Amino acid sequence: MRATRQDIDSSLRFDDPSLADIIARTESLLTGHFCLLSGRHSDRFLRYSTIGRDAKAAREIAQRLAARLPSLDSIVVPESAGLYLGGVLANILNASLVVVGVDSRRRPTGQLRRGRIAAGAKVLAVNDIATSRRSLDLLCALAGPDASVVGAAAFVHHSGVERGAVALTTLGVATWPIYDPEHCPQCRRGLGCVWAGELS
Ligand SMILES: [Zn+2]
Repeated sequence: MRATRQDIDSSLRFDDPSLADIIARTESLLTGHFCLLSGRHSDRFLRYSTIGRDAKAAREIAQRLAARLPSLDSIVVPESAGLYLGGVLANILNASLVVVGVDSRRRPTGQLRRGRIAAGAKVLAVNDIATSRRSLDLLCALAGPDASVVGAAAFVHHSGVERGAVALTTLGVATWPIYDPEHCPQCRRGLGCVWAGELS
């Protein structure tokens, strides 16, 4: 189900309130029971592909994020919903775009689908939502010894995401709980689970 404005305001913290308006306008926050790519469960899901298909919304978000980023040459993204954000960012920043294949769980593999990382390039890893640092760390690792990773970026990060070696820039924080399946209230109520991979 699509979230109400109250759901949005209670689930996401933004410095800039117009970002909550974009979520509402694009109906991109869903409520229900979701099996995340990590194997954990939640009752909210932010579907960035819905924002990405709205050119105006995608550009508004990418422009706000671009203003917070360091100087860079290349953006590396997974071939999933992160591509919606990374593609527009690369365009705004005049950076090259490197797209990495994903496995059946939508995690980045080492396979380059498009572009390459040049020796000496300043590289930014981008994904749509950072529920953990795992995918972003995998993308950073692909930059290789001849490039320098200047940071990682996502539209929002989950409040449980730990600080890592690479600075993570986002525009907001997702605050809904994420459960191990054995502790998930929705599972206890016997509600069917939607796999997040189907939504990206
Ligand atoms: Zn569950």
